[in-house]
Amino acid sequence: KNQQLDANGSGSQLFNESLLRRRMDVEFHLRKALSQNEFKLVYQPVVDISTSHVVGLECLLRWNNPHLGQVPPSEFIAIAEESGLIHPIGEWVLREACTQNKKWQEAGLPPMFVAVNLSRKQFNNYLLGRTVATILIETGLAPKYLELEITESLSVDARLATSSLEELKKLGVRIAMDDFGTGYSSLGYLRDFPIDKMKIDKSFIKGIRHRDVNAVIVNAMITMAKQLNLLLVAEGVETEEELQILREYGCRFVQGYYYSKPVESKVIEEMLVHLI
Ligand code: C2E
Ligand code: CA
Ligand code: CA
Ligand code: CA
Repeated sequence: KNQQLDANGSGSQLFNESLLRRRMDVEFHLRKALSQNEFKLVYQPVVDISTSHVVGLECLLRWNNPHLGQVPPSEFIAIAEESGLIHPIGEWVLREACTQNKKWQEAGLPPMFVAVNLSRKQFNNYLLGRTVATILIETGLAPKYLELEITESLSVDARLATSSLEELKKLGVRIAMDDFGTGYSSLGYLRDFPIDKMKIDKSFIKGIRHRDVNAVIVNAMITMAKQLNLLLVAEGVETEEELQILREYGCRFVQGYYYSKPVESKVIEEMLVHLI
């Protein structure tokens, strides 16, 4: 179904129609995805490079639909946000991640945090604090083993954001700022909100070399995190060279394909079981 674009624009109209069609298809199937058990979580290790130990795991959502196949989160999260489906889906992710982490702890794996991505829509929901509290009680996971990742966005109401963050912090969970450095007001967020951790966006890590612009920026971020007493993770580390530079700059925690892609919980167990 390849559509040709022609000079007078009728092709682009066809193109828009097929985009709209796809969006409607995705939303239609997304509505039933939870009840049909089509979601699963994969986990990517966060590694302490000074010990090579896994200190935490970021969970990432995967959706496999019988009609659409594997749909990437970059496509369906936005649709889930627009349709309001992000609320039940996000709650499922939180419960699943906490349940899984509690299971790992009970199986005797070394204690690790699990990091859950929160969409800005969830974050704007005044019930979020209560939802998180309920899930922690239900699953029995200690709050210090849960981390919530938020991204800055213009649509976040500053007062609401401060009060939800404060509520979450009172529960004892950690707040991480995701994709740090890519938004419009990363530094303002650091100043105004009770953030515990910054995650340097992978675009600053890719191909980083001594004295290039990424290196200067990353070096400054590492210094800033230390002076502000913030935890810091570099994301998207793929190569030995990137890791080496981060190590020299004093970065302690990294995440990326160099250590592991996001993998299923079974694979995490196989990776970690020798540590028991
Ligand atoms: P993110 O939170 O920034 O997650 C990191 C993304 O980078 C993941 O893509 C991960 O697979 C990928 N990645 C990890 N290491 C490397 C690396 O070394 N190199 C490169 N090139 N990529 C790497 P993924 O799983 O496709 O997720 C994309 C985005 O979808 C996430 O970005 C996050 O914003 C969103 N997302 C995923 N799961 C959830 C969820 O449960 N809830 C919400 N609200 N958003 C989610
Ligand atoms: Ca994330
Ligand atoms: Ca990120
Ligand atoms: Ca992201």
